[in-house]
Amino acid sequence: MQRRDHPLLEATLGTARSLTSFHYGPSAGVGKAYIQASLHADELPGMLVAHHLRQRLAVLEAEGALLGEVVVVPVANPLGLAQWLLHGAAGRFDLASGANFNRHYPALTDAVWQRVQHTLGADAAGNVALIRAALRAAIAELPVATELASLRRTLLALASDADTVLDLHCDTEAVMHLYTAPALWSEVEPLARCLGAEVSLLCDESGDDPFDESCSQIWWRLAERAGPERPVPAACVAATVELRGNADIAHPQADADARALLAYLAHRGIVRGDATSLPPLVREAMPLAGSLPLVAPSSGVVVWLRHPGAWVSEGEPLAELVDPVSGDVTVLTSPTEGLFYARLTHRFASAGMSLAKVAGREARRSGKLLSD
Ligand SMILES: [Zn+2]
Repeated sequence: MQRRDHPLLEATLGTARSLTSFHYGPSAGVGKAYIQASLHADELPGMLVAHHLRQRLAVLEAEGALLGEVVVVPVANPLGLAQWLLHGAAGRFDLASGANFNRHYPALTDAVWQRVQHTLGADAAGNVALIRAALRAAIAELPVATELASLRRTLLALASDADTVLDLHCDTEAVMHLYTAPALWSEVEPLARCLGAEVSLLCDESGDDPFDESCSQIWWRLAERAGPERPVPAACVAATVELRGNADIAHPQADADARALLAYLAHRGIVRGDATSLPPLVREAMPLAGSLPLVAPSSGVVVWLRHPGAWVSEGEPLAELVDPVSGDVTVLTSPTEGLFYARLTHRFASAGMSLAKVAGREARRSGKLLSD
């Protein structure tokens, strides 16, 4: 194992921070997996899973069971982790700019294309090596004007040449679920099985360039430009893993999740192990555009009638909104038939607030598909 500390641009005098990555297994092995936790800084289950994962990786490394490199960044956002307001953690948005920490990763397709357009050939593996070298060079040249830009560039540099990228997040109160691209589903489906994901939400482009999409999308965008004579495979399988809700922190569960991630890496050929016996898929993948919000039409106290994990029909009551001044009680019903998979933790709604999400089979939304 090798520990590497990556200094970030110091935002203000006396606040220098660094990002730490842990590298297990041979860097010149059969591939590379990159796993980061808690990019939304106060989404903590990923940190505990990374803790258990590191212990197991150390054992596997000592046994010679790592066939490729596994990079773990257990605290992907030291900036956000230091943001506290009035006794509360505020790790989703950069307080200085308002930017969501998991959006606006730079689009590198043009920069990489300029470097490789005249050198790509008929050999797919050769093209992958050329593109990865160009990616590393393009990332190294990204301008870094702020500490946030410095964080984004460092994370991208660590992940950009990996075959497998897993970004560990969590929701507020939720069941295990995943986000990935339809083009990658056949490669990510075993991950959904290993983790027991209740649902996987697929979309080509969710909007605003989250981390996993910035790692994976560039490959099929380059493939379109290169054409069939110069094959460019989807060489980076990336997914965002939502490790249930932010209070779901427990050692047995985190260790089971770490073992599930390792089972997936065995399936990917990076870890020696049983790659054949996968558990069954809990539920078929659904379009992210079919995930509909439950919106509060007015303000009030939210009283839930159903728990995340319930399969609900369209129009089925999910919650009551109680106005203790007027005495009005408004029943909020499911916007679609599907899996009620996430809801907010706090129990007070302002008018227009999105309180929960139901994943349906039918794509009904367009435009930007992720929440703010
Ligand atoms: Zn998140």
